[in-house]
Amino acid sequence: MNRILTDNELKPFLEGSGFSANARALLAQQRIHFPLAAKFYGSLDTVQEKSFTIDGTAVRVQFNPARIQSSAAKVDAKSISERKCFLCEAHLPIEQKGLSFGSDYMVLVNPFPIFPEHFTVPHLTHTDQRISGKVGDFLALADLLSEFVIFYNGPKCGASAPDHFHFQAGNKGFIPLETEFESILNESEAVFKKEQTDIYHIKPFGANGIAFVSDNIRSIEDAFEKAYNYLSEKSPEEAEPMMNLLGWKWQDKFVLTLFPRKLHRPSQFFAEGDSNILLSPAAVDLGGVFITPLEKDFTKITADDLSDILSQILISDEEMAELCNSIAK
Ligand SMILES: [Zn+2]
Repeated sequence: MNRILTDNELKPFLEGSGFSANARALLAQQRIHFPLAAKFYGSLDTVQEKSFTIDGTAVRVQFNPARIQSSAAKVDAKSISERKCFLCEAHLPIEQKGLSFGSDYMVLVNPFPIFPEHFTVPHLTHTDQRISGKVGDFLALADLLSEFVIFYNGPKCGASAPDHFHFQAGNKGFIPLETEFESILNESEAVFKKEQTDIYHIKPFGANGIAFVSDNIRSIEDAFEKAYNYLSEKSPEEAEPMMNLLGWKWQDKFVLTLFPRKLHRPSQFFAEGDSNILLSPAAVDLGGVFITPLEKDFTKITADDLSDILSQILISDEEMAELCNSIAK
């Protein structure tokens, strides 16, 4: 099957040059030829948002009904084994086309967008969602899709296909973590250097995380590996330490942000009656855009709810300080 668009097929949709322009051309083509993408990118224009300021940073809540499948996805082993994997090429709709990224990945339009330009980048083989050894690929993608933010959701941290390795990408200028990054770094709680990487303990809108900043991909990979190994030792029962990653090209450097998790879904997700809020946090939420697929939640959710959810799912200040110490060693 001819899944990858040829240069000739892209050409009528192409504005500008480079891989980011190719991805935008793919989106333009799919909005015409892939009905599911046409439908949900069309309705994205009417998606409602509201904003709050938390710890000096403006965050947004997005009411996005198309995300219900992802937010409420059953990701237990039994449910996963009983469904057809929607990232395997053989199961993609015939109209869905892509671009090649390296020899192992394909760039596809995400038909259930949060960002105005939202892509899924699955591995070509059906292999578990595990980040170990793949941060180099993540940053190579950030280099190539330089007008986009790349993100990764761990298998128990928002990935709705925990059995098929994938990254996602969304346009820059959308999530506060990226647009406000300079001031977030300026307010960073601690900073140190590991080889060629500057490492910051960041806490934008109360979300405890780490930012790795360097012009050297290998150096970020090494620093990330130290963090990964430390977190693995702290959670030996998990297939990988729970985490979300977001990263992008920043001036001539690379940024990788890591949000270690201690919980998949907050208590509000499981609550009965009025206190129920269907919000299943993943990388985009930690970037400062919180997704509520149900209108009742969008209407009632407050800044205090968001702060409470973040404190439940992320590790504490003390645990973050220990993590930074372990990387600095
Ligand atoms: Zn698959």
